[in-house]
Amino acid sequence: MFLFKREKDLKAFYKKKKLEHPDCTIGFVPTMGALHHGHISLIERSVSENDYTVCSIFVNPTQFNEKSDLDKYPRTIESDMALLEGAGNNVVLWPSATEVYPPRLKTKLSISFDGLENVMEGYFRPGHFDGMAQVVKRLLDMVEPDKLYMGQKDFQQVAIVGNMIEQLSMPVDLVMCPIIREKDGLAMSSRNVRLPRKDRVQVPVIHKTLKAVSRKIKKQDISSIKKWAIDQLSLPGFKPEYFEIVDGRTLQAVANIQYSDYIVACTAIWVGEVRLIDNMILKS
Ligand code: AMP
Repeated sequence: MFLFKREKDLKAFYKKKKLEHPDCTIGFVPTMGALHHGHISLIERSVSENDYTVCSIFVNPTQFNEKSDLDKYPRTIESDMALLEGAGNNVVLWPSATEVYPPRLKTKLSISFDGLENVMEGYFRPGHFDGMAQVVKRLLDMVEPDKLYMGQKDFQQVAIVGNMIEQLSMPVDLVMCPIIREKDGLAMSSRNVRLPRKDRVQVPVIHKTLKAVSRKIKKQDISSIKKWAIDQLSLPGFKPEYFEIVDGRTLQAVANIQYSDYIVACTAIWVGEVRLIDNMILKS
């Protein structure tokens, strides 16, 4: 496995590979490290579909709303490298903040995302998606992949990146990969290690509620289902921020299941000091 910290070294590596194999393809999996099997499922998908898979590890400061969250974000480069090696990943990009954001390079985007950025995560984490889109655009420019792999776990993020790729006419295919869960249903996340034991045993309620909602949606009206879901999730120490049932393309709330052919339930919940997100496609 090759490790690069600089864009120019990564590009020189590709240039050489492309001379040897002009048709070789590059899959890209951007991450913030602290890798788990959710990330690795994206790597494996890319490895199976491309000649080279690049995984970037960069804890992007511009997408954190709170400095304490950025500081507390786990950094585990050695175990990350071991997991990547085991998954057949070829290239790791581990850049510094100045490599990603050189002082003289304009990396801030001056586009909006047709309102996708204003609801749910965007409403509760103002500016988060500007920072996320900024880093994904910059990393795509650094890596120049054929395919970009992102997880459905961050459904709204995938929708916004898809919107950005279309608006900027970027030559990359976006592939959304399914959510990988623990045995008890908790969606894998780098933040899960911060859950105290007493909360960890309760959090499977999130997946149970999403599954129940996917059954209920056929029989009950959406507003009563949303109220029911919030109620289920309001355990002691749990603070649901939102539980929305939205159109998978516009991310606008859907009032009736007949009004859309692509419906997704999305939720964010504070469990003590840890913020968890999850979702489930209800109709597609
Ligand atoms: P992160 O390191 O949290 O920025 O995540 C990097 C990528 O891994 C994103 O595209 C996430 O959506 C994806 N990802 C994170 N957790 C999971 C999971 N449990 N299942 C599938 N993909 C995931």
